[in-house]
Amino acid sequence: MNETTSNSVNALNAPLPWQSAQWAQLSRAFAANQLAHAYLFSGSEGLGKSLFAKSFANYALCLNPIAQDAAGGLADTMIACGTCSNCLKGGLGNHPDILIIEPEEGSKGIKIDQIRWLSEFVIRSSHSGGAKMVIIQSAHLLNANAANALLKTLEEPNDNTHVILVSDHPGRLVATIRSRCQKVAFQAPSADIAADWLQAIIGTGNTDLLLNASDMRPLIALRLAEGDSLQARAQFLQGICDVKTGKKSPQQVLALIAKNSESEVLQHFSVFLSKLTKYSLTGIIDNEGDPAFQSMYALLSPPKEKQLAQRVASSLAHFYTEVEVARRQLASSTNPNPQLIMESILWQWSKLSLQ
Ligand SMILES: [Zn+2]
Repeated sequence: MNETTSNSVNALNAPLPWQSAQWAQLSRAFAANQLAHAYLFSGSEGLGKSLFAKSFANYALCLNPIAQDAAGGLADTMIACGTCSNCLKGGLGNHPDILIIEPEEGSKGIKIDQIRWLSEFVIRSSHSGGAKMVIIQSAHLLNANAANALLKTLEEPNDNTHVILVSDHPGRLVATIRSRCQKVAFQAPSADIAADWLQAIIGTGNTDLLLNASDMRPLIALRLAEGDSLQARAQFLQGICDVKTGKKSPQQVLALIAKNSESEVLQHFSVFLSKLTKYSLTGIIDNEGDPAFQSMYALLSPPKEKQLAQRVASSLAHFYTEVEVARRQLASSTNPNPQLIMESILWQWSKLSLQ
């Protein structure tokens, strides 16, 4: 998501509509002076965990918090006012009491130098006299040295400083760090809530299609609505079907994938496979309105014979695991070769028996 979209989504400093429970939990703890030293925000990509963390850091520093319903929200909780001096600095991303750590550009991991800044930040006194907030984005990408250094900081917490680790893959964080954090899990919203939210931002467009294609993860749906992402997705998924019907070779599909979009493509492939697996077992078509799925359902005959259906579903499930492994490799802090990973996946797909 680009910066403009991120700002407009987050303009109110309020939780997203499906995050009210988590917001209520944390803001009440803050109001009662019982905020934990470290939190781990977990949940799939595209649920707005990072936006939540930033909004919450702004709220924790706000000089004049307002009731959320004053900003059009539903819950009777408080949010940052957006206009005090702390909020203005926080909104611009340069409040000295908020530290955001993420993999540096061109690097896939979080390095020990970045955690050293954090250690210094934790021990120095607050500029505004209130709380200090640290947000570690993609915390599963801490390299081993950085993770060790962070653990030391978490073992000697500073009263006034709160660290929020945000991760789509919390299982990849070392257990010693996880055990130091209070867990806050984020879930995908219901279809109605997600559709209302998306519609309010994009105005026109097929929200059902976008949400289905993103497996009900609203920020991924929003990204799909931008530019030609939806078209690129349709083209790739059609290519995937064409490999199975012999109309295209894996190499030809590989050529369709734009550079640096490998992880996005695999995310579409993974949704595609979960729908196809469901169909192989139940005959249920989830996405009738999605042209990119039309050819997919034609790959299988509707399940008549139970044994055959189970065999196909089991091959699909096994291959799905391979796609998930590939996605993890692409997102890892080592330097994967996206071209090789995609080649291997497409080759395995071409060999997969759906009969
Ligand atoms: Zn404020």
